[in-house]
Amino acid sequence: MIFALILSGAVIIVLAILLFRQIREKKKMMIERNLNQRQKAALKQSLEMLMEHSSDFYFRYNRQGYVNYASSNVERLLGYAKSDGDVHFKDLITDNPINQTVFRHIDDLFKLNFDIIKPYFLEIYDNYGDRHMLEIFETPHIDDHGNVSYVNAIARDLTGMYKAEMELKESERQQSLILDAIPDPMFMIDRELRYMDYKIGNEEDLWYRPSEFLGKRIRDVIPSPLNYAFEEACQKAFDSGKLQTLEYDFGEGESQRFFEGRVIKLNESRLLVISRDISSSKRLEKELRKAKEAAESAAQAKSNFLATMSHEIRTPMNGVVGMISLLSETEMSEEQKEYVETIQASSDTLLRIINDILDYSRIESGKLAFEENLFYLKKVIDDSIGLVRFEARKKGIIINSMVDESVPNFIRTDRGRLRQILLNLLSNAVKFTEHGSIILSVQALETTERHVELLFKVKDTGIGIPQNKLNNLFKEFTQVDSSHSRKFGGTGLGLAIVKRLVKMLHGKVTVESEVGVGTTFSFSIRAKLAGKVSAKEQMENPDVKMVESTEEYIAEDYPLQILLAEDNAINRKLSMLFMERMGYIPDVATDGLEVIKKVKEKKYDLILLDIAMPKMDGYQVVEIINNLDEEQRPLIIGVSANAFKGDIERALAAGMTAYLVKPIKFNDLREKLIEGYKVIQEAKA
Ligand code: ATP
Ligand code: MG
Repeated sequence: MIFALILSGAVIIVLAILLFRQIREKKKMMIERNLNQRQKAALKQSLEMLMEHSSDFYFRYNRQGYVNYASSNVERLLGYAKSDGDVHFKDLITDNPINQTVFRHIDDLFKLNFDIIKPYFLEIYDNYGDRHMLEIFETPHIDDHGNVSYVNAIARDLTGMYKAEMELKESERQQSLILDAIPDPMFMIDRELRYMDYKIGNEEDLWYRPSEFLGKRIRDVIPSPLNYAFEEACQKAFDSGKLQTLEYDFGEGESQRFFEGRVIKLNESRLLVISRDISSSKRLEKELRKAKEAAESAAQAKSNFLATMSHEIRTPMNGVVGMISLLSETEMSEEQKEYVETIQASSDTLLRIINDILDYSRIESGKLAFEENLFYLKKVIDDSIGLVRFEARKKGIIINSMVDESVPNFIRTDRGRLRQILLNLLSNAVKFTEHGSIILSVQALETTERHVELLFKVKDTGIGIPQNKLNNLFKEFTQVDSSHSRKFGGTGLGLAIVKRLVKMLHGKVTVESEVGVGTTFSFSIRAKLAGKVSAKEQMENPDVKMVESTEEYIAEDYPLQILLAEDNAINRKLSMLFMERMGYIPDVATDGLEVIKKVKEKKYDLILLDIAMPKMDGYQVVEIINNLDEEQRPLIIGVSANAFKGDIERALAAGMTAYLVKPIKFNDLREKLIEGYKVIQEAKA
């Protein structure tokens, strides 16, 4: 009994101990679990805190590929909120090929099919559609059964770095594309000016073999003195950082080649030299230069030829025109008069054509300088009309001018050019009009303090010009109808000259026309207003003096002792006749030496001096005369067939008072003699 009691007591104690132990164990477990949970929560909190300020974030995904947890900074970094719910990988990733292996990788992870887990790259879209390149570090979470229940992942956003790298790659790619596209050989040079590397499309284009230059210094490869020039350019490129260029050539004769080198500093220790073969452009340049020289010398020859021709043709024309004008004033039968008129008209035309061609070639070669004169506009208009009136009257055409009140009396511009424009347009009008009238009108378009813009119109009632021909009218050698030159004469240069001359006078020319009704040519010019006219200008400008006396016999009012120096018999006779008509009785010399002899023997007031004379030319004569005593020194009027401005300037510079161009016109000579007389009087006073 006692044994039974003891036994049951022992059993109870054992049971109690066991129970107590169990309770203690349970309590301990509860405490531990509690502790664990708190630790976990604290861990999670500090993880969140850590993530909050970092650009890395934490996420977790399951076997199905759903991201079912992410640290809260994801919202800041990618815009995805917790409330958006779980997101599947396939909805996140972009089409970047880098993502291709991600699903296999996930699969392997969950199947524990790996040795070590390497970080990998993943490109995803954020909630705004922008791309982010992430580097992912992962650890799978393995449960009690040894299965992977989810994967923990830390993502690092590398977008900025990735972009910069991509941009760098892109720019490198572009650079290499550019370099590949440059066909020229390129050489890399180092600080010691040695060849380090080269790049060339075709190895055969290399002037030296690579073994001859790689690793060697420029000075040891390229012959002297070019090597020094090369090294200098390289040194300069290193020092200044600026692109240096130099031209050079290799070889001789047929195999000579020209290059242009460009030296570019890449960094402190590298230069790039691009060497371009410019042989063909050099050759072309050479040929062009040759061609240009040839063309220039041809142009020079042409203008020399024209100058000579003008001289040669004008000299005999001098005789013809002069004699005809004298002849026409003698007693003649009606029939003879008619013949003479025809001769006169033809020779005038001939002179005009010669002048046209000369003018044109002078304008073309830019030799025709703008000359500013002060003149009385109405006189130029009257003179121009006067020149075509005879022809117009013959055809029964009325020709008149209308000058608007707004037009000033005196203007300053190139009188000769203006007269030429008017004459060309008026003679066209007369030529292409059978009956009716021609009106030349002028009006001022705009007047400022110093300038006036004038509009001239030449309106005819002639045959008119078809609309489709109006455009080409101002081109040289153009006529509306090729039959015109046979029917009306002319070369088709008139309007081309007009266009250029109008431009010289700062204006424009236009035309309006209707076939069968008539044509109006209009042109503007910009001229200076006369302003105050000085005494000297009055002296120099015959127009300003206006028409003084038109009397022919002037010797009484303007007495002069004249010496006529002219070797050509016809010209001499013509000038003699003119002067005799004026009432003078000149002495005559037929060469330069005779002039000097006569001047020393007798006191002359004025010499009419032909410049081209045998034995001693006009310039030499002037030089000798300039050295005489003032008393003995006569005024000199130069006479020459050369009408170039340069000739006139030369004559005046040599000391001649005036210059007449052959063929001499009666009125011009008369004017010059009157002027000469006045100069002498002034000098005496
Ligand atoms: P050139 O003036 O050289 O002696 P041209 O008179 O034939 O020869 P332009 O003055 O250039 O040459 O004129 C060119 C063409 O324009 C003329 O041939 C003519 O066909 C046409 N033309 C010029 N003016 C008139 C006009 N007033 N009426 C009708 N046609 C004209
Ligand atoms: Mg004409």
